Amino acid sequence: MDETQARKLIVEIGKLMYDKGYVTSSDGNISYRLEENVILATPTQVSKGRMSEDMMSLTDLDGKPLNDRRVSSEIKMHLLIYKMRPDINAVCHAHTPHGTAFAAAGLSIDAPILSEVILTLGCVPLTAYGTPSTSELTDSLKPYVEHHNALLLENHGVVAYGNDLWQAFDRLETLEHTAKIAILAKILGGANDLPKDAIEKLINIREKAGYLTEAARCQACGYLEHTDIKCSLDAESVNNGNSNGAKISFTREELIELLAQAANIA
Ligand SMILES: [Zn+2]
Repeated sequence: MDETQARKLIVEIGKLMYDKGYVTSSDGNISYRLEENVILATPTQVSKGRMSEDMMSLTDLDGKPLNDRRVSSEIKMHLLIYKMRPDINAVCHAHTPHGTAFAAAGLSIDAPILSEVILTLGCVPLTAYGTPSTSELTDSLKPYVEHHNALLLENHGVVAYGNDLWQAFDRLETLEHTAKIAILAKILGGANDLPKDAIEKLINIREKAGYLTEAARCQACGYLEHTDIKCSLDAESVNNGNSNGAKISFTREELIELLAQAANIA
């Protein structure tokens, strides 16, 4: 996608985020990786519902400005994701009400209750609170970025990312929809988890279809949290702040079994 198209699409997605109530006032931000080291991003202090194509900021991967539009102070979070995930080219950050309610309550979105979510998103972990726009926030995200496609930011909001702008937005939307359903199901007495074999099938399908890679099996929340097993990939991420080159120490079958066990115990 060229820069003109990317600017248009960021304006369109900003309007959608605002119209859907995912952001108010000047909350939230959207960015797109134009080239390996060139990021197009929403500017600071502007409503995402009232942006125009000429407003966008350009920075490099270290946040150095490449034009005269002041970028959102939360760009650090986007840059961390681009640096850790070469497969990611777009990031959406918002304060969606239901997703942020989970984040404010100190909860992950991690129950295996909806097939579509296991297929396209995976579980969404809660990351520890860090002051927005500081390295406190990016430090707390580091252990999770590699193996998840969306994160909850404790007492703050949510962030989702993808191959392109639509995938990032779709993941944000799926996260918010799932949070809403989980809250409604709780009011009705609680959601039932999917059975073990159903989870296993969904994980196989999502990899065959290319919705998620095997990296998503190694998730720090939810499906694994009821076991004593810690994922070696996440442990290395915590230690190094970067898991490039880390190795998965479980076989595919072992991980499926673990996920299934966790679902049964839950
Ligand atoms: Zn925010």
